[in-house]
Amino acid sequence: MTEQKKQPQLQAVKGMNDILPPESARWEWLEEKMRSVLQRYGYQNVRTPIVEPTALFVRGIGEVTDIVEKEMYAFEDRADKHGQAEHLALRPEMTAGVVRAMTEHSFLRDSGRRLYYFGAMFRREKPQKGRYRQFHQMGIEALGFAGPDVDAEVILLGNRLLRELGLVDGEHFHLELNCLGEADERRAHREALIAHLEQHIDLLDEDGKRRLHTNPLRVLDTKNPALQDMANAAPKLLDFLGEASLAHFNGVRAILDAAGVAYRINPRLVRGLDYYNLTVFEWVTDKLGSQGTVCGGGRYDGLIEQLGGKPAPAVGFGMGMERMLLLLEEVGVPVPPQAPAVYAIVPSAAVLPQVFVVLEGLRAAGVSVQMHPGQSGMKSQFKKADGSGAAWALIFGDDEVAQGLVAVKHLRDTAVPQTTRSLADVSSWASELLRA
Ligand code: ATP
Ligand code: MG
Repeated sequence: MTEQKKQPQLQAVKGMNDILPPESARWEWLEEKMRSVLQRYGYQNVRTPIVEPTALFVRGIGEVTDIVEKEMYAFEDRADKHGQAEHLALRPEMTAGVVRAMTEHSFLRDSGRRLYYFGAMFRREKPQKGRYRQFHQMGIEALGFAGPDVDAEVILLGNRLLRELGLVDGEHFHLELNCLGEADERRAHREALIAHLEQHIDLLDEDGKRRLHTNPLRVLDTKNPALQDMANAAPKLLDFLGEASLAHFNGVRAILDAAGVAYRINPRLVRGLDYYNLTVFEWVTDKLGSQGTVCGGGRYDGLIEQLGGKPAPAVGFGMGMERMLLLLEEVGVPVPPQAPAVYAIVPSAAVLPQVFVVLEGLRAAGVSVQMHPGQSGMKSQFKKADGSGAAWALIFGDDEVAQGLVAVKHLRDTAVPQTTRSLADVSSWASELLRA
């Protein structure tokens, strides 16, 4: 006899999480809430591949960014029959993919588009609370619209989302806003910024030193506590903006002011990706430590052309699903647990065929029903019914079923009297079970 060796247990990849019940019910609740808001603003769903050509992200996000320099899962595919292997990457964000798809399918030819997505993103970061290697975003992109009105609409959508989730502005989150101007304005600012950074070169960390000349604006994005004073004292891009950029910024602000949306202007807000211009914004919370940005976005008028499309303006944001859920939990926003309306208690197997007809009738009428699987005693079935969270138990006792009846018992409210109902006309009483 050969001895069976015990196989080592396999585990999920570091920084990549299983989302299981009951946690998955919180995800579904959040997604549903989000879809309801998105639909009210006229946004349509888009789904693009998880794997894209590496070049899409290098060109789209920028070569001198944390994402492309250090965090991207990039690999060479197997060679095809000509010996050619493609360079592919797991998407670290989805804007570049959406832009590629819009261009590839000429979707911006006739009009602008308002799109949203949900999806998994991949970044090889140091895993910690609120920061994972596979994480999920809900994002929106408004493509083909140049004006500050659409920037404001995008921000109002995000604001409504946060509020409808039960989060309170000023208490649980706040909005930070900045204007990055246009390329020529950033160039003028860049020189002043480099001069400032050179004065403090001894302070700079390795990233800072490396980016001083390649991407100095990015140095302001640092999370290094030792660099905060230096970054705060740096020349402000806002002071370098011309009339058109200021007018755009003021246009956004006027709408937000009128709508009563509070914001803080943060001159250091540059965002972690290179493609932004004019308006940038983040919703930040102080409840999640250094993973405090729950949503970030802005305008990216140059990206479509940069990726080979016909030039078109665009604006959007990405919201971190895990961070949103952590924040909701942290501040105690109640998420209704998933529970069936009805739990079916079936003491003996003989009546099962009749029971199934009734349960199918209920489901056809829109009632969620959990059937007790297999045989067990009444006590244990009631315990399972209770644990399921169902409001009602249907008790298919042999005697009742023989008379064409079923007992209906409220499991949560003892004041509701138990009744018996006819098995023949389920649809006539099914709707009562929808009222908890
Ligand atoms: P951070 O500064 O926290 O690294 P970011 O600027 O890199 O965030 P974006 O690229 O703007 O983030 O992504 C949009 C949102 O996605 C973030 O605001 C955050 O909520 C979420 N997010 C980004 N990276 C992660 C991650 N590794 N794990 C979980 N959520 C993330
Ligand atoms: Mg990041």
